[in-house]
Amino acid sequence: MTDEQKARKKELAKESYIRVKERDKDAFNARMLENQNRYALNNPDKIKESRAKHYEANKEIIAARKKAYRLANIDHVKELNKASRERHKAKRNAASREWNKSNAEKVKENMAIWKRDNKDKAQVHDQNKRARKRYNVGSKRLSSGLAKQLYIDQEGRCKYCKTEFIDNNYHIDHIMPLALGGAHADDNIQLLCAFCNLSKHDKHPVIYEKENNLFIWRKPVFNFIEGK
Ligand SMILES: [Zn+2]
Repeated sequence: MTDEQKARKKELAKESYIRVKERDKDAFNARMLENQNRYALNNPDKIKESRAKHYEANKEIIAARKKAYRLANIDHVKELNKASRERHKAKRNAASREWNKSNAEKVKENMAIWKRDNKDKAQVHDQNKRARKRYNVGSKRLSSGLAKQLYIDQEGRCKYCKTEFIDNNYHIDHIMPLALGGAHADDNIQLLCAFCNLSKHDKHPVIYEKENNLFIWRKPVFNFIEGK
């Protein structure tokens, strides 16, 4: 067959294709779809390959299109992401628990490093844990930056005996003890040295302070002038 004949044959095939398509568009489309689906089912690797190729060739266009969509549908995308996180939460948590379990040594090591580098936060974290375990504090938490702030406010010294804390060695004390119904809240916290904290223990602050001749100025709980 000459090139001319080949071209003619191709032309005829194309015409016949268009004729069939025009005769019954819906049936034609249905048949095409069926063929495509069958091909995809029988050639999963080829499909994968061609998709990867298409993606490689159009990477930038696809990324730009996706970005434009995200920007135009910001709330919808947020919702979708949230829903996806919720959907996979259990699975992700389980995977993370599993990972922690099979990497117990690594986890312990990381935790020790974190504690060493974030001593103040670690102390607050421990207090929150203890309060949750022993007292009914619900969802109340001390702020993670609290110890650092109190350390600055108290100029690095014990609130009672004014001993300087060495190496951040302070105890986090509930001014009104949780055992006496004190709140597990930032404004019920002071930093004490180990000695003062252990000797105060679960005593009422006013009783302890009187017994030890400590005169502590505290912000009044009620402001009578403003509240009249
Ligand atoms: Zn002290």
